Amino acid sequence: MQHLTDATTEKGTLTREQLLSFPVADSVWKLLDHSRGIRNPRELAATLTVMSSPTGPYRDEDLQGGLLKYEYRAGSVNGDNTKLRRAYELGMPLILLKKIEPSVYVPIHPVYVVADVQDARYFLLALDEGIRLLSDPLNPSEDERRYVERITRERLHQPEFRGRVLRAYETRCAVCVLRHGRLLDAAHIVADHEVTGTPITANGLALCKLHHAAYDSDLLGISPDYQVHINSALLEETDGPMLRHGLQEMDGRELHVPHRASEKPDRDRLGYRFQKFLASA
Ligand SMILES: [Zn+2]
Repeated sequence: MQHLTDATTEKGTLTREQLLSFPVADSVWKLLDHSRGIRNPRELAATLTVMSSPTGPYRDEDLQGGLLKYEYRAGSVNGDNTKLRRAYELGMPLILLKKIEPSVYVPIHPVYVVADVQDARYFLLALDEGIRLLSDPLNPSEDERRYVERITRERLHQPEFRGRVLRAYETRCAVCVLRHGRLLDAAHIVADHEVTGTPITANGLALCKLHHAAYDSDLLGISPDYQVHINSALLEETDGPMLRHGLQEMDGRELHVPHRASEKPDRDRLGYRFQKFLASA
């Protein structure tokens, strides 16, 4: 899982090809089955990965509260399902490969099986360790529900949001076009604790660390016409090359946005956020 985290740092996503021959130390692991949505390596007692795809034949549904219903494989309640049941019995962590586009995946881990519902033929997966530790994840108490809401926002949505945004922006900062994925974040236009702050690409911007921090502290603003603005007081300052090239020279630049209309930053959300930039100036 640490190797997966490292491999995902650059782009936020992995391709099917990468998952089919994934290097770990001296060996190469197959993390995805060629034809099935579950990977049960012969040498492991329990399931290694499960794949969730919005277009797949199984109706894996995201549930409220960081849980995912993972349907049994067709046929017997055993077969491929046996090793997933074993993961449940042993409390073993697994990896969920969320397919976001053909041949493009976001790995989510560790994921745990928290229920095996044989009558209705599904497993319930907790998408975060914190949810696994609740006494009854399906019926959380009021306190637990607030906790789950917070970790869903802060942790669960993050990997997929970053993967989608970096992919849409072709791993480039929207302001300065820096191309190093390790130095890029998926920034929210409207913050995730606000009503319209949903983790969708249209509410995101790929920004380098400097421009993300500058955007979040209203030293850099982006107007709904996709223009970059730098705080007027900052424009008057004199300092080294980072201030001059990294910030002041960005003033008036046009934002680099994705090609697909559905992935371009939403102008209403930009406008809402831009008002805060203007107010703080
Ligand atoms: Zn930048």
